[in-house]
Amino acid sequence: MDMIPFDDRDGSIWYDGRLVPWREAKLHVLSHGLHYASCVFEGERVYNGSVFRLDDHNERLANSARILGFELPVSIDDLKKATLEVIGSNHIREGYVRPIAWRGAEQMGVSAQATRIHLAIAAWDWPAYFSPEARAKGIRMKWAPWKRPAPDTAPTQAKAAGLYMICTMSKHIAEADGCDDALMLDWRGRLAEGTGANLFLVINGELHTPTPDCFLNGITRQTVIGLAKKRGLKVIERAILPDELAKADEMFLTGSAAEVTPVGEIIGDHGHYRFTPGAVCRLMWEDYDRAVGKTVAASAA
Ligand code: PMP
Repeated sequence: MDMIPFDDRDGSIWYDGRLVPWREAKLHVLSHGLHYASCVFEGERVYNGSVFRLDDHNERLANSARILGFELPVSIDDLKKATLEVIGSNHIREGYVRPIAWRGAEQMGVSAQATRIHLAIAAWDWPAYFSPEARAKGIRMKWAPWKRPAPDTAPTQAKAAGLYMICTMSKHIAEADGCDDALMLDWRGRLAEGTGANLFLVINGELHTPTPDCFLNGITRQTVIGLAKKRGLKVIERAILPDELAKADEMFLTGSAAEVTPVGEIIGDHGHYRFTPGAVCRLMWEDYDRAVGKTVAASAA
């Protein structure tokens, strides 16, 4: 794990309209975003100096903000220019980009009508979300004690900071048991997703993936669905119950950070399952690597 603290690095961060030295990109402790989670963000991957599907991430950021009741302080065009500026000035070739927008400190309390919207964009070298060893044999997951909330309980289509509270709690419980991630059900008890990635099952050579009606329809998920269809694989989006894992031959996660990551084992309250990453995992992993412009198939590394 990368242990260099994220507030003590060299480089620059785009902050409210200009690049500032990395260590000076601070906010006040009475910021609304910190107290009440009035905050949205993105997670993007840089491959060979370019962000994969940058426009889609930027559109989602603006949409997340709108769902939370605010507008970004810059246009989508300027957001793109700023992102490219950050990547260029920090010389990122293979990395991660984190734009984040939040309500400021003009008002304290639940209401936030008077707050200003802030926007920052940081980028850093970050080649692997799960360790290469774990990815090669399939990661271990533990059933999460928390469920994805109903769409009338939380703004589930926004990539909003508040939705990650239960993800961090679940992931810590999973890690305490030697697992790489937690596997979350939704409020109805259906299979939902990982703490930062969507999921796919391979059943009789077809891809089955939960309908994203109370969690993000990930950009990687959409990419992989397109790649699978191009390969002639059938993709079925539907409600999936946890005991259907018994029918699955393979399972994998998708996310900008996770890319295509096979799942090897699931432990915990809703059943113990084992999977061996097979032909379909490998195909989607390699097709995704090609789509993002990687030159070497990661699964061979
Ligand atoms: N679900 C959650 C909770 C996530 O944090 C992410 C990562 N943004 C995803 C799914 C996958 O989304 P994407 O493929 O757009 O990165």
